[in-house]
This record gives sequence, structure tokens and C-alpha cells, in this order.
Amino acid sequence: MVLTFEEFQRFEPSRPTYALFGWPLGHTMSPELHAALFATDRYDAAYIGVAVPPEQLAQAFALAAQKLRGLNLTIPHKKEIIPFLDEIDSGARDLNSVNTVAFTDGKSKGYNTDTYGFSASLERDRVTLAEKKVLLLGYGGAAAVMGYHCARAGAQVLVTGRNLSKAQALAHELQAALPDAVVDATPKRHLPSDIQIVINGTPLGMFPHEDECPLRFLPRHTEYVFDAIYNPPMTSTIRLAHGRRIQTRDGLSMLVLQAAGAQTIWTGRSFSTQACDSILKQLYAQMAVKRLHDKYGKDNLVLCGFMGSGKTTAGRKIARLTGLQFVDADQYLEACEQRTIPEIFAQDGEAVFRDLESKYIAQLARRDGMVIALGGGAVLRAENVAALKQSGLLIHLDTPFYRIVKNLSYSSNRPLLEKGDKMAQTRKLYNARKSTYLHVADLSVRTSRLSELIDRIIRSI
Ligand code: NAP
Repeated sequence: MVLTFEEFQRFEPSRPTYALFGWPLGHTMSPELHAALFATDRYDAAYIGVAVPPEQLAQAFALAAQKLRGLNLTIPHKKEIIPFLDEIDSGARDLNSVNTVAFTDGKSKGYNTDTYGFSASLERDRVTLAEKKVLLLGYGGAAAVMGYHCARAGAQVLVTGRNLSKAQALAHELQAALPDAVVDATPKRHLPSDIQIVINGTPLGMFPHEDECPLRFLPRHTEYVFDAIYNPPMTSTIRLAHGRRIQTRDGLSMLVLQAAGAQTIWTGRSFSTQACDSILKQLYAQMAVKRLHDKYGKDNLVLCGFMGSGKTTAGRKIARLTGLQFVDADQYLEACEQRTIPEIFAQDGEAVFRDLESKYIAQLARRDGMVIALGGGAVLRAENVAALKQSGLLIHLDTPFYRIVKNLSYSSNRPLLEKGDKMAQTRKLYNARKSTYLHVADLSVRTSRLSELIDRIIRSI
């Protein structure tokens, strides 16, 4: 729920309530994220967003102290809130930025849990910072938080961006706050090759400008890339890293963990890794559905790929995560025809089966809000592909052949594999169809592990 300032003036909480103040406050994930954190232990509390214009911040803060248990602040209030606070913790003071306020015993104290969100994300990736060389792209709010943590943890931080004097200003601020740290600025065209960690604190690559990238290539010795952006999860910078098999992390875990950090400050509750992982999964899935509509203008996810590539299993799990409805196109056809596919093949032959397949695919393509798992040969007909792409994003499961062989295990009813040397036949068919899948699909995801497959599909959208 997002209230206007006037609505907040009239707002009377019926249970412990927390709020996010920002301006303008458009779409924010914070209310659902905090609701998910409250739900982990059925904690009875509410979280609202309030659009607070800068000139109303003093009045809104006074009301918050009466009505709320705690506050989050986002742009443009993180600095402007400081004069109203009774106390401020050292990290927030060093950064001159408060994103969390706790009201306790009539006093207000400010914190910066973005730092915690970032540090906890790195910790979970087992990334150590001491003695490492970190390249920090950007010098805004997020970059300051991330640079501060890296410098405090003993990394040598090099700030860069399109404006060298602004990069130098952040380097000086961090150096002043942390006198023992090593922080410097560098022009983008002179990046040392011994950088080990690259951190993106710019919005370059964020939706809808996803092709923008803060770097053309990563320094030679890069071991880890962190991008504060989370929409898309797979940013241009992260793609650069994947091309070189470098470990990466997008900004969604930082967002979840900073919210968890705020709730720990407000309520004293802590959150297990599993609880945070499960919220992260939910958020990635929600974002995938949102991106399906916003980026691609589509309503369905359609999975194609060779038989045994995991379309049905993955599709069912993706549907459960996203809240979309799952349909297996082959099972739909069998249910409508009241015959199994092997029976149709045996009684009428493949040509009749393919006509029926087209008929039922056309029906499914007219629906929306679905994950559709296609039969292995469904995309061989251009009319099927055209119908499915009208409403759906076509994703190819590029499962390696050895995994397919394992999945099929040669016991299932696969009409095209009934005769002769099954292994040789399967390999021939796999090779013949692969280029078609790659050609027709909007996205292709290659992995042999099911859990990774689902994760990659959701994050690739
Ligand atoms: P900010 O304070 O406005 O800083 C933006 C930074 O990016 C500045 O250094 C700016 O440099 C640079 N920049 C902007 N446009 C650029 C361009 N076209 N080319 C080169 N540099 C450009 O913003 P912020 O709050 O730090 O947010 C930065 C990113 O971090 C956003 O994508 C935001 O969504 C993300 N973020 C994530 C989290 C999280 O929890 N994951 C938290 C906060 C922010 P100039 O001053 O030269 O324009």
C-alpha cells in the first residue's frame, strides 16, 4: 500500500506499522518484501509506502514518530532526515546517509542497512575483501555504501566513472571516514589489470536500457562481479562476467538483506539463510512475470526443447513459483483426444498427430497467464511457433545430450524412439532439432542441473 502524504496524515495504524518514505514513490518492492519477512514467523506488523515531498519531510517525520515503530528512507530523504534524528550509528554517520530509523522509548536512531545488505550478500558468496583490489563503478549513493564496506573490510578501492573529479570526491570522502583504508580514483580508460572484484554502482544496464554497460570488458584478473542493479537480474555487466565464467551477484540479495537488517533493528528478530533464500526466489519469480509483461509484452512462458530436456518438470516448478498456470501441451492433447500419443501414432501415424498438435497449440496460445511445456517436435512447424509467440516468450531448454539420455532412461513412451538403435537414433534427432530450437527461441538456457535450470530461466527473462 502506498499512501500520499495527506492520506498518511489521516492514517491510524491498527497494529505495529513501519513505512518507507520517498519522493516520488513509484513502484516499490519494499511493502511486499517486508510483508514476506513478517510472514516468515507470522510477526504481526504492517509496512506501507508514503510519498513524502521534500518540503513535507519534517512534518511527516513528526507524524511517523507518533504513528510508526520504524521507518525506511529512500531518495531524496536519506541525507535530509539526519537533522531530525536523536542519534545516528557510526556507519550511517560516515556515509552521511540513513535508510532506516527505529523509534524506541520516544527516541529516534538512524542506521544504514544498505551496508549490511551488501556485506551480507558478499559473505554469502564467500567473497573476502581483505587485500583485494576492487574497482567501483560510479560514485552515487549505492557506490558510496559499497565502497565504504569494501574499504572498511581491508580492500584497496579504486573509484571510476564518467566524471573523474566526482570519482575523486567519493575517494576523498571514503578516505576521510576510514583513514587506514586505501581508496583512490582512476579514469575509466586506465584500469589496472590486477583488479579482482568489480562492483557496478551505476544504473547502466537497468531496465529499460538493458544494453547499456558501464564497461566494455572486465579487467584480466577479475574474480567476482557485483551489480547493484536487480532489474534485470542478468545485467549487461553480469553477462560480461558469465562470458568468462566469473562468479557474479545481482542486487536483489542486497535489497532483501538490507530489509532483513532493518527488521532486525526494529524487532530484534533475525532471519535464517533459508528464509532469505526463499524470499529471494519469490521475488525473482515475481520479477520474471513483471518482465514478461513489461519488457516482452507477453503473457505466457513457453518451454521448448528436446524430449527429456526437463520441460515438464521445470515448467511445473516455474508455474508454482510464478503463480502462472502450468499446461503440458502433450498431456492437454491426450486429454482432449482421449488417447495417448503412442496410440495416435500407432493408429493414425505421425502426420495426423502433428495436425492435432497444431490444433491444440493454437488453442493454448490464445490463453494467457500460463507456463506451457511443448512436445519435442512442436516447434518444427512454423505455424505453431508463430501462434505461440503471439502471446508467449519461447524459451529453449538446451539440456546437454548426456543429461537427456539419463532423463529418458529409455523406459518411457517415446514413439519416435520405439525402433532400432535407440541411442544412435536419439543422438541423430537431437542434433537435427537443436538448430531449430536455437533458431526459433527467444532465449536459450543451457545447464544439466534441474534446480539451476529453473533459476537460470527465471533470471534470464
Ligand atoms: P545515484 O546516487 O543517482 O548514482 C548514480 C551513479 O551512476 C552516479 O555515479 C552517476 O554518475 C552514475 N551514472 C548515472 N548515469 C550514468 C551514465 N549514463 N553513464 C555513466 N554513469 C552514470 O544512484 P544510486 O542510488 O547510487 O543507484 C545506482 C544503482 O544502484 C541503481 O541502478 C539502483 O537501482 C541501484 N541500487 C540498488 C540497491 C540494492 O539494494 N540492490 C540499493 C541502492 C541502489 P553521474 O553523477 O556522473 O551522473
